[in-house]
Amino acid sequence: MKILVANLGSTSFKYRLFDMETEEQLARGGIDRIGEDADSNCDVEIGTHSSEQQQRISDHAAAVQMCLDQLTDPEFGCLESVDEVTAIGFKAVFAGKLSGIRLVNDKLLEAMENLADVAPAHNPPYVRAMRQLQASFPNIPLVAALETAFHETIPAKYRTYAIPSEWTEKYEVRRWGFHGASHRYIGTRMAQLLDNDDAKIISCHLGGSSSVCAMRGGESQSTSMGMTPQSGLPQNNRVGDFDPFALRLVKRLTGKDYDELLDELSSQGGLLGISGVSNDCRDIEEAAANGNGKAQLAIDVYAADIKRYAGQYLAVLNGADAIVFTGGIGENSDVIRTKVCEEMTYAGIVLHAEKNQQRGGERLISADESKVQIWTVPTNEELVVARQTAELVEC
Ligand code: AMP
Repeated sequence: MKILVANLGSTSFKYRLFDMETEEQLARGGIDRIGEDADSNCDVEIGTHSSEQQQRISDHAAAVQMCLDQLTDPEFGCLESVDEVTAIGFKAVFAGKLSGIRLVNDKLLEAMENLADVAPAHNPPYVRAMRQLQASFPNIPLVAALETAFHETIPAKYRTYAIPSEWTEKYEVRRWGFHGASHRYIGTRMAQLLDNDDAKIISCHLGGSSSVCAMRGGESQSTSMGMTPQSGLPQNNRVGDFDPFALRLVKRLTGKDYDELLDELSSQGGLLGISGVSNDCRDIEEAAANGNGKAQLAIDVYAADIKRYAGQYLAVLNGADAIVFTGGIGENSDVIRTKVCEEMTYAGIVLHAEKNQQRGGERLISADESKVQIWTVPTNEELVVARQTAELVEC
């Protein structure tokens, strides 16, 4: 069975094709600047073949068509026909109580549309692209693996906000949690690496968006993102946790309305907001190294918040077997890892200074005397979505 996994942005489409008998990745590709007044960069890697080309791509359906053309190319393709694609799986973000793994249908699309205001960067491009694909490829089942599904195991005491109960019960305002595919992958992989199916893991997914998750036995117990992906840790350009009552003050002082302020918090906040430099951790680290105080503050705030969540989750789990760093920042930034793990000896957490400098791949980076293992593990969200999609279409 071959499963195509789609990762969508508002103007981008990345894909991977898996053979589910072996879980081998057969192909990967990416197309950006979709629908813009400029050529898209279209990259593809199929086996040993890789190529790049520039071409105008009008919408996501055209992007998928291009991907299918690449996969079936007589010269370098890995499929004889499009019919070999059993289903397309999506790492979809938020559909409220329509969580889990489900076929894309009108009910799901409506639910995602209705929640576009709380997941403005994520839901609209998915809904648009899914509708286009339904129309253009009616014979290929589309499957949504909702990011919130993994966190359904979080006990009520860790997912309930202290708000009027009507908000929780009627309007589903609760900590839903996100990055489910990534944390699930880390949970499964760490059980293998530690040879322990009941391991207590603190998973730090640190990238363009970031969250920390406490897991036991591969199940989510608590996570830093709440009702929306704008919460929890500071994100690259989104706010993270924040006191909503401060908005009243800023509204009065700026004359802006709540929607404008929320848009600002979800596009001009986070690491970008504090540093004033960039939303990319590499630029911020470079600026801090060159003496930029605000960039240094952004790094300090971000690392301190990750550490605070790690401390909470040591309490939630009654200790941990491992702390895992994944995502673009988690895997690559020794600076952030050092700051998160410093002065954690009370909990038996000690980094190995040299191993922490190395980059790439699965690595144990804790010191020999560390009671809690510290790892970097590249996540594989697409494989998780491919597995879930295969399971759904097989039933
Ligand atoms: P992701 O969303 O997981 O692909 O992560 C993307 C982010 O990883 C980028 O925005 C960068 O901030 C960060 N990143 C990538 N490489 C490095 C690096 N060498 N050092 C620090 N941050 C990095």
